Amino acid sequence: MTFDTIVVVDWSAADDRGPTPKKDAIWAAVQRNGAAAPPVYLRSRTAAEDWLAGLCEAELAAGRRLLLGFDFPFGYPAGFAESVVKATDPLALWDWFAAALPLEAKAAERFHLAARLNALFPGVGPFWFNGLQDDIPHLPRTDIREGHGMAERRLCEESAAGAFPLWQMGGAGAVGGQAMTGMAALARLRARFQGQVAVWPFEPLDAPIALVEVWPSLFASDIAAAQGPDEIKDAAQVRVLAAHIATAQRDGHLDCALSDVPVEAKTEEGWILGLGQPDFGLSSLTPPRLKDDCFAMPQGVDWVPVDAALKRLRGALHPITGTERIATANAAGRVLAAAAVAQRANPPAANSAVDGYGFAHGSTGAGPQRMPLVQGRAAAGQPFMGTVPSGAAIRILTGAILPKGVDAVVLEEDTATDGIEVAFDGPIRAGANTRRAGEDVAKGDPAIACGHVLRPPDLALLTALGVAEVEVHRRLRVGVLSTGDELVSGGASPTGPHQIYDANRPMLLSLAERWGYRPVDLGHAPDDPVEIAARLDKGAHEADVVLTSGGASAGDEDHVSRVLREQGSLSSWRIALKPGRPLALALWRGIPVLGLPGNPVAALVCALVFGRPAMSMLAGSGWAEVQGFTVPAAFSKSKKPGRREYLRARIDAEGRADVFRSEGSGRISGLSWATGLVELPDAAAEIAPGTPVRFLPYASFGL
Ligand code: AMP
Ligand code: MG
Repeated sequence: MTFDTIVVVDWSAADDRGPTPKKDAIWAAVQRNGAAAPPVYLRSRTAAEDWLAGLCEAELAAGRRLLLGFDFPFGYPAGFAESVVKATDPLALWDWFAAALPLEAKAAERFHLAARLNALFPGVGPFWFNGLQDDIPHLPRTDIREGHGMAERRLCEESAAGAFPLWQMGGAGAVGGQAMTGMAALARLRARFQGQVAVWPFEPLDAPIALVEVWPSLFASDIAAAQGPDEIKDAAQVRVLAAHIATAQRDGHLDCALSDVPVEAKTEEGWILGLGQPDFGLSSLTPPRLKDDCFAMPQGVDWVPVDAALKRLRGALHPITGTERIATANAAGRVLAAAAVAQRANPPAANSAVDGYGFAHGSTGAGPQRMPLVQGRAAAGQPFMGTVPSGAAIRILTGAILPKGVDAVVLEEDTATDGIEVAFDGPIRAGANTRRAGEDVAKGDPAIACGHVLRPPDLALLTALGVAEVEVHRRLRVGVLSTGDELVSGGASPTGPHQIYDANRPMLLSLAERWGYRPVDLGHAPDDPVEIAARLDKGAHEADVVLTSGGASAGDEDHVSRVLREQGSLSSWRIALKPGRPLALALWRGIPVLGLPGNPVAALVCALVFGRPAMSMLAGSGWAEVQGFTVPAAFSKSKKPGRREYLRARIDAEGRADVFRSEGSGRISGLSWATGLVELPDAAAEIAPGTPVRFLPYASFGL
């Protein structure tokens, strides 16, 4: 999809700011067919709504496609819509705001509305900050909220550093009021241009006008650099953002940004355009590195539940590999970096779906039919060049282009022929046994979205569509380092019973390879800080991410965490997980290091649960969810509350999940015995034979 006109609006909840251009009013910038117009000052929300309606009318009349970006959240954290409009429907919530905040509502109205919403929730409710003189029941002046059950942030805000939670209704930088008045205004725009407006990412973008959420802070440094000496910041913001979106469209990154959105965002929360897309709006293809503090956990966090840790990890990461163009034939396992667009329709021309006889359907009727056969035949790759006269039929084979005069085919098995005439029973419907040109994919359609990992069937599709080359992410290089004085590498002989073979390294290297990455063997280091640092340095040169195993806790012999703490930036995540201990996350000379536990059972579980989605993000293929199946248990267990547990498991002959006879974390044989993991929830669980449990096959993890 291509937009002719790109407009970015900096919204404001404030009342009329007067005729002279001022900050904190509403500002808009228009880019049409690559040309930028000076930013427009809109003194009030009424003025802005009028201007937007006029703009939409003009664009529709001219037959142009319009992308309209707004700098406020389009949705609330998951569950909010359900509490207010009794449905997981963000656009129903927009309509609710439009009814609650009519065009003539004063800015102060938003505080009363927040109070009304708070009353729908337990405790104080999620909203806070009263910007008015008078006290408002249900709206606290300070943040004394508790027990309202809503997440503080949307998923996208986990990675939008510095984004304000929607619940804060006032104070410098707050967006609570903007969001309410903004959603109300957009609901009115949608109602006015019914069927012509699609809201991203909730609706497919198949209407002429797309409404999209943007966030200027994503480009704060570009905006600061581009702001003119006397230019108002809001004006510079919309100007730079509109230009960035236009550049992203020109370079093919806009489609990616529009399609690469997590499910939670699509169903309810909304997403920020360009978030997690390091190339968005920038001409350079060098992806930025991760920030040194990206893995930092907030102060005072003790044990983190698995889901919270995963959410945080997802927010901290973005693709870090550049891109390259390669032949489609060599692209299996690679990650598409730009949507693949059909160069040709499939099928390119109407053809026959069966072996039989073709004719003009209009020259047949009901009951017995006899038709003379024309000389010649039509076969796949051997088209019939003449015209089949009305009333005559031609021998036609599967895949043959329909000759002129043919629009229906009767199946050979339903006919009788003497070579001169063909007979069959009518009626035959128009188009019977034929394939229309482009019925599968039309030329110019996006065939596969970016971020997709290409599998053999995808190569068939792309090849059929004439896509001979694809833009893919460079292969993620995964360094693997084992640590421990007790280890000897396979091949060498243990000199005593204190030595054990390094089992983790071959496992992790082959995992990386299975996942389509380039494994980089960093060998094994003794428990010596100098050696470990040297190996990590090698990793920083030769890999994009390093997996270590062993020495990642906080004990005397945990040298990996010590080295990372003293010379890198270490965050030790204490995850409520069995098996597993703290996961050490760090940046070493700019590259991420995942410190896995040494115990092979825990190392595998952590690699599957955390390493796999993290590396998938880094490689450009988005967060990899694992598909589980609920099956009856074949075992009994009394699980205590407070942590997630993964058990080595396999499906028995009756289709039930059986678990390995020992939960001992040193029992490597169980890893090999298993065909997957049983995942037991964080809460307590009494499991008896027949209890439904979640089974995650190794295959769901790509093994
Ligand atoms: P650590 O995390 O270093 O305390 O190691 C925990 C346990 O895992 C110890 O029993 C180690 O001997 C064992 N271990 C550590 N690394 C490996 C490895 N690469 N292969 C097999 N066992 C290991
Ligand atoms: Mg060790």
